[in-house]
Amino acid sequence: MATVVMTGGGVVGLITAMLLGQDGHEVTVLERDAAPPPSPLEAWSAWERRGVNQFRLGHFFMPRFREVVEQELPEVLKALEDAGGYRFNPLALAPSELTGGWRAGDERFEAITGRRPVFEAVIAACAERSPRVTVRRGDAAVGLTPGPSTSRDVPHAAGVRTDKGEELPADLVVDATGRRSPLPQWLTDMGAAPPHEELEDSGFFYYGRHFQSSDGQVPPALGPLAQSYGSVTILTLPCDNGTWAIVIVSSAKDKELRGLRDVDRWTSAVRSFPLVAHWTEGQPLENEIVTMSKIEDRYRRFAVDGRPVATGVVAVADSWSCTNPSLGRGVSIGTLHALALRDVVRQTDLGDPLSFSSAFDSATQDRVEPWYRMTLHYDRHRLAEIEAEIKGEHYDPADPEWELTQCLQHAGGRDPDCFRAGLAVNFVLSTPDEVLAQPGLVDKVMACGSDWRNAPSLGLNREQLTALVAG
Ligand SMILES: Cc1cc2nc3c(=O)[nH]c(=O)nc-3n(C[C@H](O)[C@H](O)[C@H](O)COP(=O)(O)OP(=O)(O)OC[C@H]3O[C@@H](n4cnc5c(N)ncnc54)[C@H](O)[C@@H]3O)c2cc1C
Repeated sequence: MATVVMTGGGVVGLITAMLLGQDGHEVTVLERDAAPPPSPLEAWSAWERRGVNQFRLGHFFMPRFREVVEQELPEVLKALEDAGGYRFNPLALAPSELTGGWRAGDERFEAITGRRPVFEAVIAACAERSPRVTVRRGDAAVGLTPGPSTSRDVPHAAGVRTDKGEELPADLVVDATGRRSPLPQWLTDMGAAPPHEELEDSGFFYYGRHFQSSDGQVPPALGPLAQSYGSVTILTLPCDNGTWAIVIVSSAKDKELRGLRDVDRWTSAVRSFPLVAHWTEGQPLENEIVTMSKIEDRYRRFAVDGRPVATGVVAVADSWSCTNPSLGRGVSIGTLHALALRDVVRQTDLGDPLSFSSAFDSATQDRVEPWYRMTLHYDRHRLAEIEAEIKGEHYDPADPEWELTQCLQHAGGRDPDCFRAGLAVNFVLSTPDEVLAQPGLVDKVMACGSDWRNAPSLGLNREQLTALVAG
């Protein structure tokens, strides 16, 4: 069995550690933030997590996360439930005119979700209890220790250096230090070629607030979790213990909406959209509107021209690639990546580092990268659509993939098969290619969704919204 050192003990890092630990590997997780996880309910107000900027912004944990955790780490699912995680399935809640009634297989659409600090505290407590997983909080990694290379021009990492000057040897180093990962610098310091990197500011601005009900219930959903209204998208995200988050997403360039930082204007804006207005009827959990911007989309590939840039070290989840979060997929994509790593460790000899790195690169490309690309594709179009709306222009990019995405989302409100197909894609359960391969589905999507441009908007138009936000 291998000795694994992980850098970064965030939500996906800890899941990766548990997956490897239960296969018999000895896993040490170095987490820079010193504060230990408090009890899940104290985590919301008391857990200091400077290492994760988005820690207190609204999160939704997709059904794909639930599916992997239920299959691979059932004790984590149980602990999330015990901590008040909200289990729900839109197929069970939506009217039967929309769903066509319950069908075999609809269980896959079930989510368990909660506030990020609460869920991370639960996952952290499970990791602490996991045999063969040791989490060292307050220990930052500062670099890799080089070891004997098995291949010319490909440096090998044989462990990690900490900020206390300690050197931890490892058969495999797994970097999970998140979206600001220093791994490329560590690789350069070791003499490795730089990884391939694509980087851009996602261009979105997030204005969010959490609420809690007095009776432990979350408001009923009158539409999808993410609803697009011209130049804004509004997210309504159910969470644990009768809490929820509302997030307004705009373009970061949209200065006319900066007034949404003001609690009263933000509240008036949300209340002006009839399908989401009732979500403001709860006790706010923050005194202010929590904002975030300058969130980068970053893709990294650690093999260039078919050769790994280094061996003995891999990156998972956000450290590998991260996208704009308005589709709420980061944790699910990261969890799929953790699973891919677990499988490659099972199937490939770590004693042959070059083959191992190449196999993990292939698994990442085959099983995880398509989700990154799809998410990026959607974000780019949605941002361009928002910016066209701000200029009062019509957005028509003549991109068949965007056209089909829009048709699918629209058709979901009219046909039960299209409803399930749209949810499967949104929930990271099936790729568009997989759902559209169902016999007859493309025709149905086109028949039910191709008039999506004529759908009436059920909210304020741009002029009304900017006037309201201007006060
Ligand atoms: C605004 C926002 C909203 C989001 N909403 C959602 C959502 O609704 N649903 C969803 O699925 N995803 C969402 N995401 C994405 C999700 O937060 C990430 O995908 C997820 O946190 C990735 O987990 P991770 O373990 O890879 O990294 P992180 O959770 O970022 O953890 C990285 C860890 O590494 C530690 N670290 C950093 N440097 C070092 C070092 N040198 N040594 C040791 N430790 C170090 C940090 O302290 C941190 O604990 C959102 C992201 C943002 C920005």
